[in-house]
Amino acid sequence: MTVASGALPRLPRRVSIREVGPRDGLQNEAIILATDDKLRLINALAATGLTWIEVGSFVHPQRVPQMADTAMVCARLPRRSGITYSVIAPNVTGARRALEAGIDSVEVFLSASESHNQRNLNMDIAQSLRTVTAMAALLREAGHPFQATLSVAFGCPFEGAVPLERVLELCGHLLDLGIAQLTLADTAGMAHPRLIQQLGWAFHERFPRHRLRLHLHNAHGAGLANVLAALQIGVTAFDSSIGGIGGCPIAPGAPGNLCTEDLVHMLHAMDIDTGIDLHALIDCTRMLEHLLGREVPGQTIKAGVCTHLTG
Ligand code: ZN
Repeated sequence: MTVASGALPRLPRRVSIREVGPRDGLQNEAIILATDDKLRLINALAATGLTWIEVGSFVHPQRVPQMADTAMVCARLPRRSGITYSVIAPNVTGARRALEAGIDSVEVFLSASESHNQRNLNMDIAQSLRTVTAMAALLREAGHPFQATLSVAFGCPFEGAVPLERVLELCGHLLDLGIAQLTLADTAGMAHPRLIQQLGWAFHERFPRHRLRLHLHNAHGAGLANVLAALQIGVTAFDSSIGGIGGCPIAPGAPGNLCTEDLVHMLHAMDIDTGIDLHALIDCTRMLEHLLGREVPGQTIKAGVCTHLTG
C-alpha cells in the first residue's frame, strides 16, 4: 500500500524529556545506592544533553528510605548551564526542606482517585488540595518555580477508571495555583493510546493556554504506543526513567516507568529531536546496571542502536 506523505499525521519536530530515574526509578529499588553513586549517575546523565533531571524526594525517610539523602544529593549536584534539577515534595514541610536545599524546582502532587491519594499521601483529596495550595503560597512567596503532577489520571489500581470530568476538575484546581506546568501521570500503566488522545484533547479544549506533560508507565507494554498517540495530538513533553526502572504499584516485577533510552531511540528514528546523545545515555544505563547489580527492563540496551542512528 502506498500512502501520500501529506496524508500522514504531523508530528512535533522536538520533544523535551524529564529524566526521573534518580527519583521515581531508584525509589522502587531494593538496593539503597550510596550518595556518591547517585551523584555519579546524575553527573553522567547531566552530560547527555538532558535538560531536566528529577533527583530526589522530600518525603519522610521512613516511607522511602532510598530518598533519605536527598538534601545531600542536592548540595552536591553538578552545576551545568541549561539543566534544571527538581525534587518532589508531599507537604509544606517537604517544600520547606526543598527550598533550604536550594533545588531549582519543586514538584507538588496529588492523585485523581481518593483510594490512591489516601494510600500515597495519607489524606483525602480535599485535604491534599488545601496542602498543595499552602505549598504553592510558600513557593510563590519564595519566588521559586514549581510544577504539579496529577497521579493515576488514566486509571487507578484500586478504583479502576477515573471519570474524565473529575480529572479535568482537579487539573483546573492545580492550574489555578499558578504552576509552571502540569503533568498527568499514568502511575499504574493503565493508559492506552485512545485514552491518551481523549484526555489530551479534553485538556487542550478546557485549558488551551496550558501545555501538558505526560508521565507514562509501561506496565502493559503500551508506553511507546501512548507516546505516539500523544505526539499525534501535539504533546511534546514526557517523563521517562533511565533503563525503564521504577515499579508498578500493583504488580511487583512488572515494568514501571517508560524507558528513557527506548523513548529517545524511537524519537530519533522518527527524526524528532531531543537534544540528547543516545550513546551517552546508553552508557548511563550500563552504569546503572552495574550499580544495581541486575539487568534493567529497557530494550535498547539489549537490542543495540539501529545503525542509521548516530545521535
Ligand atoms: Zn513513574
